[in-house]
Amino acid sequence: MERYRVGIVGATGLVGQRLVQRLEGHPWFDLVAVAASERSAGKTYAEATTWRLPTPMPSAVAGLRVGRCVPGDLDGCDVVLSGLDAATAKEVEPALAAHGIAVLSNASAFRMTPDVPLLVPEVNAAHASLVDAQRRRTGWPGFLATNPNCSATGLVLALAPLHREFGVKRVIVSTMQALSGAGLDGPRGLDVVDNVVPYIGGEEEKLESEIGKMLGAPILVSAHCHRVATIDGHLEAVSVELERDATPEQAVAAFASFRGDVADRGLPSSPERPIVVRSEVDRPQPRLDRDTGGGMSAVVGRVRRCPVFSLRFEVLSHNTVRGAAGATLMNAELFASLGKVPRRSGR
Ligand code: NAP
Repeated sequence: MERYRVGIVGATGLVGQRLVQRLEGHPWFDLVAVAASERSAGKTYAEATTWRLPTPMPSAVAGLRVGRCVPGDLDGCDVVLSGLDAATAKEVEPALAAHGIAVLSNASAFRMTPDVPLLVPEVNAAHASLVDAQRRRTGWPGFLATNPNCSATGLVLALAPLHREFGVKRVIVSTMQALSGAGLDGPRGLDVVDNVVPYIGGEEEKLESEIGKMLGAPILVSAHCHRVATIDGHLEAVSVELERDATPEQAVAAFASFRGDVADRGLPSSPERPIVVRSEVDRPQPRLDRDTGGGMSAVVGRVRRCPVFSLRFEVLSHNTVRGAAGATLMNAELFASLGKVPRRSGR
């Protein structure tokens, strides 16, 4: 495949850093531009970034000059991956799409817009074609597509095989979300030690609305979101009501055999198994299981009957990988493999 030129907006943040890390040595994509706020613009990436990952900052990126999140500073990019907050994304992302760029976003600003795909490739790859209607409506030569909220990503991966085989009607989910989910300005120090915070602004509403859009069904979701003192990996306790009854063994078989919509597309970020099932009574655990499948697999365990609904289980997914940077990158790979990324650089 011919290579694509890629930029990152919000490149200095936690999601942006994961994008930089995952683009190093990518077989299809070359990182050519990084952009962030006025605070960072004009500095080198190494000067502007408080690097928080255990692997070294890629040397090819360290010397890149950080640009502003404006089309002129991202000219020459075929694809822009966005790790911006929602308010900034609302201004920046449409301007980039109008400039002819394929924009793949982590932000919530446009997730629920009907002709903006809210994509997890294994779950609803067919929604990628919504960008054709979006281009007709907007007249943009580029397009905008999104990945879901980090907790919604793990949850929808687990619900998809159940929905396909048994139908999902209602869900109650309690999340235990890692500190990295709050970004570089998230809670730290004495706020988090010896503590659980039973509120994450806007999070429950996102979980409750995004699942139905992705699964294409009016699934009722009740979410309780908590910030806990883990570093990476969101754990979710899920009770689910099914349309057709299933035993825990049947549900485990559905999880374990799930390969999803893109197993044969050869997407570089695609894990061999979208869902890995653990049989131990005390798994999944964030520290032990978050890197399963290179951080791209959801890990399911404790599948058992529910005395109120049909079944209950735990699901864990890596929030800055599967729930953010890895998801955005995999969505970009899906559009590239579909031939839907416009070429801008005249090559
Ligand atoms: P973060 O660490 O706070 O990073 C924010 C980034 O946005 C930084 O690069 C920052 O640049 C840039 N920025 C802030 N204000 C800006 C402005 N006015 N103009 C241009 N750039 C601006 O946040 P994050 O955790 O990476 O999250 C990024 C996005 O991904 C958010 O929408 C978040 O909801 C979403 N998300 C995060 C996770 C997660 O697990 N962390 C998971 C899923 C989705 P400076 O360094 O120059 O300030």
